Amino acid sequence: MPVTMVTTIGDLRSRLEAARAAGQRVGFVPTMGYLHAGHASLMAAARADNDLVVMSIFVNPLQFGADEDLDAYPSDLAGDKALAEAEAVDLLFVPSTAEMYPGGAVRTSVRVAGVSEPLEGRARPDHFAGVATVVAKLFAIVGPCRAYFGEKDFQQVAVVRQMVDDLSLPVEVVTCPTRREADGLAMSSRNAYLSPAERAAAPVIHAALLVGRLSIDAGERDPAKVRMLMTDLIAAEPLGQLDYAEVVDADSLEVVDPLQGRLRLVAAVRFGRARLIDNLGAEVANGHVSEAD
Ligand code: AMP
Repeated sequence: MPVTMVTTIGDLRSRLEAARAAGQRVGFVPTMGYLHAGHASLMAAARADNDLVVMSIFVNPLQFGADEDLDAYPSDLAGDKALAEAEAVDLLFVPSTAEMYPGGAVRTSVRVAGVSEPLEGRARPDHFAGVATVVAKLFAIVGPCRAYFGEKDFQQVAVVRQMVDDLSLPVEVVTCPTRREADGLAMSSRNAYLSPAERAAAPVIHAALLVGRLSIDAGERDPAKVRMLMTDLIAAEPLGQLDYAEVVDADSLEVVDPLQGRLRLVAAVRFGRARLIDNLGAEVANGHVSEAD
């Protein structure tokens, strides 16, 4: 069945209301397009759990800083449509910026305190308000649903879950594991920015996270030591410019010292025009170590 393109809020809302009235469960996959196998895994999960699957493609200007890559963000609507069709997505919601933000003005903003503040929040001050605002709007348009997000953007999932809880939104958030290239690099639309040399160097991010996790598994409990292991490895790669590498509590996303409980190793590194992020789970329970992804 070919995927149906929908471009207006009214059209999407009435189709989904009709589907729910007929007893169908709705699965929703929000994206910014230029889709890859990571996105496909979200579509597959949504397809497996629901009767009707809607995917949105919207490059949300609110979540880009003034000096960021909004104008350069890659797009390939024909390719995206083919992948959506291959994954049996029913509806592809591709609104214009004017449809989402008429008049260009957005007077209402959703800010999630706490989990949005460290890490990416520090590096990109208005980013998560932009994300939370557009996701709240998309949830309001789509209505009651299960919504699928990638663990690749770990802090984003935490922000969305907190928002859903705080605002009692009728959405069940489902998290899907990070899909990687064979050499460990997390799949990302922004990998398209990498030169061949940068692409060859970029797996150092995942390698550094793995080394950090290994040190925790070997008994290291000092977050500064784990951080140093990761930053030293990334700093040794001349094409990479480290933004941050940390090990944090998986719920609060704040540094814990000594390391204990459910943890997340996180890193952000620039390679040329591409700012790439990645993360990995670890756990220290009752003095014993057990791996988590
Ligand atoms: P984006 O188009 O980059 O905004 O991503 C849309 C959704 O796909 C988000 O929930 C991302 O976390 C998820 N995603 C992006 N890359 C991956 C990946 N490599 N593996 C799994 N999910 C991903």
